[in-house]
Amino acid sequence: MSSAEFIPEAPDGHRIAVINHANLAHNIRVIKDWVAPAQLMAVVKADAYGHGLIPVARTVLEAGASWLGVVLVEEALQLRAAGITSPTLAWLHAPGTDFAQAVEHNIDLGVSGWELPYIASVAEQMGTPAKIHLKIDTGLGRNGCVPEQWEDLVKTAARYQQQGLIRTVGVFSHLAVADEPEREEDVDEQLRVFHWAVERARTHGLTIDLRNIANSPAILSRPDTHLDLVRAGVAIYGLSPFADRCAEDLGLRPVMSLRTRVANNKPVPKGQGVSYGYLYHTSAPTRLALIPLGYADGIPRIAREAPVWIDGTIYRSCGRVAMDQFVVDLHISPEDTVTAPVGAEVELFGERSGLSAAHWAQSAGTINYEIVSRISQRVPRQHIYPHVSEGIDG
Ligand SMILES: *Cc1c(COP(=O)(O)O)cnc(C)c1O
Repeated sequence: MSSAEFIPEAPDGHRIAVINHANLAHNIRVIKDWVAPAQLMAVVKADAYGHGLIPVARTVLEAGASWLGVVLVEEALQLRAAGITSPTLAWLHAPGTDFAQAVEHNIDLGVSGWELPYIASVAEQMGTPAKIHLKIDTGLGRNGCVPEQWEDLVKTAARYQQQGLIRTVGVFSHLAVADEPEREEDVDEQLRVFHWAVERARTHGLTIDLRNIANSPAILSRPDTHLDLVRAGVAIYGLSPFADRCAEDLGLRPVMSLRTRVANNKPVPKGQGVSYGYLYHTSAPTRLALIPLGYADGIPRIAREAPVWIDGTIYRSCGRVAMDQFVVDLHISPEDTVTAPVGAEVELFGERSGLSAAHWAQSAGTINYEIVSRISQRVPRQHIYPHVSEGIDG
């Protein structure tokens, strides 16, 4: 029997990232419950961590998120172009960022310092106040205004506010070690600086309705960081922000399932070298299955012995991941033409296999965030909605 007989009739969907919107909505509801009465901002930067910006934005808003968070003004403009009008915050700018478009499209802007006069001047030209969230660097050392310059920033903002050029909506900051709950003193210190910054802003006459500092790990480990608004990213996608706790234990459901089909299956002798560099040799006569996903699809080249579900069984990748493909040693007799034939269903992580992006992250020395957000545009996204899977019209 030749493995060609197993080629499925439908050639479509031979590589696909299935996005389960029922699970996405579930995660939003769970997180909303955790943080109430704080509001929930769903962070949809980087194409919604690889899940698809517009479809994800629609579902999270429907499920109860009241804000969207993105990094770039360009990302926020994509939301507006799709007709999404919810409050939206964009927080990382560079010279050249189109603040005029942001103000015109009612996009809230994070401000760390240098942006403020630029934003005020476009607001003046347009005759529309810009809505801003001032960012204090409470310790992360990345974006945000250092405490030493905070008074100055706040005073400048107060002056622009009196001139009707800006309206301060919030003060925000980002946490460095909330994913390591045992390092609570570091979080305590960041929170202390944060509360000081809010107090100074209010003293200078700024209205600060939305204090926001919590990311996914802080949402779970530090209720005292929830304040008025939380910014949830990885957790909404059903992934755990902690190294030692899986998403399922947190009550979250994975949203992305990465699937393909076996692209080749062939017998090889003992000692067969596999893939570039021959990092792997078969230890016995066996069969090799070829998986048509590689680093151009976002599979980390550095991954070693990563788990792969084929037709109900979990195997391990062997040898180097190439640009378009990698190999699995099936550890079966070369005569076995029934196991993992060409066309057999493959899942790298997702709902069928129970494997998580975190398993792939472990095999590649990285975090689940990077695994999902790097799945490239060569992998089509298939969006599955509750009314489809539950058979309800809608
Ligand atoms: C990405 C990001 C978040 C979301 O972080 P998660 O750990 O994914 O919840 C929140 N705030 C800022 C400023 C971010 O850049």
